[in-house]
Amino acid sequence: MTEETVLAAYEGEREAVSRKPLVALVGRPNVGKSTLFNRLVGERVAIVHETPGTTRDRHYADVEWQGRVFTLVDTGGLIRDPSDTIAEQVQRQARLAIEEADIIVFITDVLDGVTGADQRIANILRRTEKPLVLAVNKVDNLEREQGVYEFYALGLGKPVGLSALRGLKTGDLLDEIVDALADVSLEGDISSAVRVAIVGRMNVGKSSLLNQLLGQERVIVSDVPGTTRDAVDMSITYGEEEVTLIDTAGIRRRGRVERGIEQYSVLRALRAIGRADVVLLVIDALDGVTAQDSHIAGYIVDEFKSVAVLVNKWDLVEKDTDAAMLFEEHVRYRLQFLPYAPVLFISALTAQGVERVLPLALHLYHERYVRLEDAEVNDILQEAIARRSPPRGRGKRLIIYEGRQAGVAPPAFAFTVNDKRLVHFGYERYLKNCIRERYTFEGTPLRLTFSNRG
Ligand code: GDP
Ligand code: GDP
Repeated sequence: MTEETVLAAYEGEREAVSRKPLVALVGRPNVGKSTLFNRLVGERVAIVHETPGTTRDRHYADVEWQGRVFTLVDTGGLIRDPSDTIAEQVQRQARLAIEEADIIVFITDVLDGVTGADQRIANILRRTEKPLVLAVNKVDNLEREQGVYEFYALGLGKPVGLSALRGLKTGDLLDEIVDALADVSLEGDISSAVRVAIVGRMNVGKSSLLNQLLGQERVIVSDVPGTTRDAVDMSITYGEEEVTLIDTAGIRRRGRVERGIEQYSVLRALRAIGRADVVLLVIDALDGVTAQDSHIAGYIVDEFKSVAVLVNKWDLVEKDTDAAMLFEEHVRYRLQFLPYAPVLFISALTAQGVERVLPLALHLYHERYVRLEDAEVNDILQEAIARRSPPRGRGKRLIIYEGRQAGVAPPAFAFTVNDKRLVHFGYERYLKNCIRERYTFEGTPLRLTFSNRG
């Protein structure tokens, strides 16, 4: 493939990226938040592909209802610090929800009635302008419905009685959530700038990196528009290219609440990832890839975003000849589901390697928009089939008639087959590898779909 086809491919194909709304479940311990979360997620997980090897904590997941998709977050699961009193935990949850969520679902328990703790949460929640849904859980039978009216006393509007355990009236709750979504602005961005998010745990060096990037000679800071109250993007030009650094306020902000700060940064990261084209996942060379790093990485994969792994604080590592290679092996092992992500070693302190960060981000962006000709895709397909026969099942062999690239950002390939039930994960992965042998599509996941002919 020539350089020109690559360039022609991504011009004019820019589409608006808007993130998914975040819906947070808030409430005292034992009211049934995690039961409700599992019930809502278990019944209708929007994202069916579960990348094997991703360690995902199940405190956030996508839910689809009436054609709308949103990310549901169980803040009770996120914030579970045993050294906290229950009152502290609950307060933090409520604040977290107010700051980071688009819609808040406040859960109470009909068996307990309105408690003092519920009142205190309501007092915090009442200060937000964000849409709020009041749910009264454990309404397992008709008799208990009488108890729901009592919750009008919280002054948060109409309570929705339901039973998470028995799965009663959960549809009513989803209806309320979807209604409330109508009022949510998702900061959809139609500018042609490349959107880059810098994400990672606390103290890995995101803010230091940001400062280094802004201080580079080729970088001109154009403006710092406030898109919404708390998401501040920064526009820069790098040479000829316009880049929007997403949510720089989130990077710089020091939490007002010291403990539980990791949870703030995870939710913040989710928002930023949703709006980005390219995600720079910063990890700390001294810590290696932690469980939380791989949670964030799993989310980047699920969102089909392009990604590079930046190993920061490389200045602190004793560098014998194999250091970088060994570290990269560690990254590849811990982030097995991201084999296509480039790994870059940098020091935000000494600026070593930082000059390569923006060129890499731009390169990854362009990779997202590469489009292969139909003939080329079929060529790849024929060769792939010749090298390894498609799997058999149900008394027949999978036949793949043809393939084409159906879209970009992320590159999507559509294949027509005789019976799509015969396509299994192993062969799909093999096809992806065959595509990447022809063109790397560096940093971006590929999306493959199969449909039956006729
Ligand atoms: P969380 O601490 O708010 O996440 O609460 P959990 O989801 O862990 O639930 C606490 C307890 O309440 C568990 O024993 C659940 O089985 C129970 N529970 C949750 N939902 C319901 C419900 O709808 N009805 C009844 N009767 N019990 C429930
Ligand atoms: P953030 O929380 O991810 O934004 O992290 P910061 O940028 O605030 O950095 C956390 C700490 O790590 C600060 O003390 C930084 O000076 C230090 N730090 C950041 N990058 C590097 C680096 O590359 N090398 C070293 N030695 N320290 C770093």
